[in-house]
Amino acid sequence: MNHGTPGAFLSFNPDKALAEADKADISKPLGGIPIGIKDNINVLDEPCSCASKILQNSYTSPYDATAILQLRNAGAIPLGRLNLDEFAMGSSTEHSALQTTHNPAAPGHIPGGSSGGSAAAVAGNLIPASLGSDTGGSIRQPAAHCGVVGLKPTYGRVSRYGLVAFGSSLDQIGPITRTVSDAAILLNHLSGHDPKDSTSLNHPTPDFTQSINKGAKGLKIGLPIEYFTDGLCPKMKERIEVAAKSLESQGAEILQISLPHTEYAVATYYIIAPAEASSNLSRFDGVRYGNRAPNSPDIPSLHQNTRALGFGPEVKRRIILGTYVLSSGYYDAYYLRAQKVRTLIRQDFEQAFQKVDAIIAPVSPETAPKLGEISNDPIKQFLADIFTISANLTGNPAISVPLKPINNLPVGLQIIGKHLDEETILRCAQSIEQGT
Ligand code: GLN
Repeated sequence: MNHGTPGAFLSFNPDKALAEADKADISKPLGGIPIGIKDNINVLDEPCSCASKILQNSYTSPYDATAILQLRNAGAIPLGRLNLDEFAMGSSTEHSALQTTHNPAAPGHIPGGSSGGSAAAVAGNLIPASLGSDTGGSIRQPAAHCGVVGLKPTYGRVSRYGLVAFGSSLDQIGPITRTVSDAAILLNHLSGHDPKDSTSLNHPTPDFTQSINKGAKGLKIGLPIEYFTDGLCPKMKERIEVAAKSLESQGAEILQISLPHTEYAVATYYIIAPAEASSNLSRFDGVRYGNRAPNSPDIPSLHQNTRALGFGPEVKRRIILGTYVLSSGYYDAYYLRAQKVRTLIRQDFEQAFQKVDAIIAPVSPETAPKLGEISNDPIKQFLADIFTISANLTGNPAISVPLKPINNLPVGLQIIGKHLDEETILRCAQSIEQGT
């Protein structure tokens, strides 16, 4: 089904939505507000396909994810299922096995991914806000490409219970909205400790809307020298420099910082994320979830045929890569080494955050490519994740906020914060939003 021009929704039940709207308690903070949901987050009695043939038309969620329950408690209505790269693996939503999503802000271009449906639905004014998931940039990058706001909270701030796991040590649920203050409001309701997620943090939730208007005055903001190299399109570089100047003119101090292990981030992520994915996706075996391949005489062929038919090429690539790096004989050389480099990347950020309150960076090296332009070039796609994956490897919160477009194509500024300090990045983002 294609509801609305961007092809953002995979499914949508208008009768259910209207019935829920009739019952909505508008005295609640999000009373009656529809929030679109990425199709890898479980909503009771709704399909959850992860944009994969293995789950298409065969799986209905028996429960609400904690993030959904919390939104419902605040009065919101989860509305429809939004397209994504299959199992959230990709950066363009072109790896959806079910549907193409267009970029409403840039016709003919990808919406970004993997939460491409979530960003396109908000950018196309179909809904005021949506939920996405971010394992290596999947909230921030589509938000940047579609010209909306996308927030990846600190790892553990928002419960992952009910999010279909991709890379469990990297995944976070977060909001995609039109404004920074809407992101702050949603984060208020999404945050909090959940005993059902063992990595959920038991940390108080501030009112994130309280501090967003404090301005940038007095903040120390870091510009990582390693991010401003040849790989960054010159106009994008210029936009980030203009944003830095704008923060400076509002009283922030801009400092050059170094994140020396940046060059290893892509390789590290593309070992750890597929390793975790290969383990997480082993549950899709044709027995417990989803579709089952016919004519499979024994258990091994049942698994093999089901996965061969059910998974698309990108998901297979990740499972093969992940299985390889975890296999005996290669584990030390790849997986263990990647974990050690992950620690070095985390230490880079810890050192930088001794000097600065927030880091600003590009989200993507370039604006959104055209549909089909890089979908057959996995290496090019992997490399384009360079600026977003570090915050997942380290767990730091990060937001994308729109800057002035380049040739009518949206641009996002990324602001990365200290652990659990979403308040400062929201505050900087608000300053940028008001400046543009
Ligand atoms: N583009 C990255 C990948 O394909 C990130 C995806 C995500 O954050 N879910 O792994």
